Amino acid sequence: MAQQRKARPDTDAVTAKQRDIQRGVKKADEQNNEKSGGAMQAGARKYPEPPFPKQHQPKPGKERALDPRPMFDAPFYKGSEKLKDKVAIITGGDSGIGRAVAILFAREGADVVICHIDEDQDARDTKAAVEAEGRKCLVSKGDVSDPAYCRDAVDATLKAFGKIDILVNNAAFQVHAKGIETLSLEHFDLTLKTNLYGYFLMAQAVIPHLKNGSAIINTGSVTGIDGSKELLDYSMTKGGIHAFTRSLGASLVPRGIRVNCVAPGPVWTPLNPSDKEADMVAEFGSKVPMKRPAQPEELAPAYVFLASEQMSSYITGEILPVVGGY
Ligand code: NAD
Repeated sequence: MAQQRKARPDTDAVTAKQRDIQRGVKKADEQNNEKSGGAMQAGARKYPEPPFPKQHQPKPGKERALDPRPMFDAPFYKGSEKLKDKVAIITGGDSGIGRAVAILFAREGADVVICHIDEDQDARDTKAAVEAEGRKCLVSKGDVSDPAYCRDAVDATLKAFGKIDILVNNAAFQVHAKGIETLSLEHFDLTLKTNLYGYFLMAQAVIPHLKNGSAIINTGSVTGIDGSKELLDYSMTKGGIHAFTRSLGASLVPRGIRVNCVAPGPVWTPLNPSDKEADMVAEFGSKVPMKRPAQPEELAPAYVFLASEQMSSYITGEILPVVGGY
């Protein structure tokens, strides 16, 4: 029987085809790179993009001194009574994310108490912005890592407004260190005391006064998910806050109190310009897929969503990343 000869594959033709495809993709990549130069602008208004002016501030940082000034007042956002007649305590509410949250909560019908450690002018600016929304604002100055201060802030809220419906745990301390050997015990201790004890103590002081339908929202961070090599202590607290959210959420289900967390990526607030070197601040936010930091007003709607029983009644123990893409 005559043997059939197997056809040999034409390897040259296959290789030529592979190179054709490779050349096509390279050309498309080059065209895409030319097109995708700038940051993503898909918001209700245009937001600033790096590079920013080089700048550095002493802790805790002043919003008024930032260039460009953070965008926090969301002029395009219309309130619709999602938090009508609620009372909210917002720690770190004088500036940054906390300020933007205070303003949107007020636009949705809530009175707010803002707690802060310093920056009196920032606090006055936020109070004025809340009052411009037609709601009341109480300013409380103190250290959230001090149990006596947390109790005082709660007492002052009850005295002013007679109740508490929402707690936003948001105050934080962040200073980078190059490695574990350069992170002093004092530094480590202050980060944990502010970011973990502060959240725990505020929750412990507020929870006895919350009722069915109340909400707690913690501010976590992308660093609590991805880690950050120069923020060992800070990332550790943020991961802890995520676990605290999930655990407290489960423990408060029987009482009808929801506990959730927003985990921001880079946001243009005093926190990083009062931590990182001026050169790094200039490039802040450039490494995320959207190639720019968020502005505080882009974070605040997530807090409204998690605070309002009209919007998130079936959500508790959740971590909501708002990070500018993956
Ligand atoms: P921010 O500097 O505007 O706010 C931090 C606030 O914490 C300040 O208002 C300050 O008064 C307050 N604070 C600090 N220590 C305190 C203490 N011991 N007692 C009471 N208040 C104290 O910065 P921000 O970026 O708006 O920070 C808000 C939250 O967002 C923080 O929890 C921060 O970790 C988180 N976050 C910020 C970013 C970012 O890129 N800005 C990213 C991820 C998470």
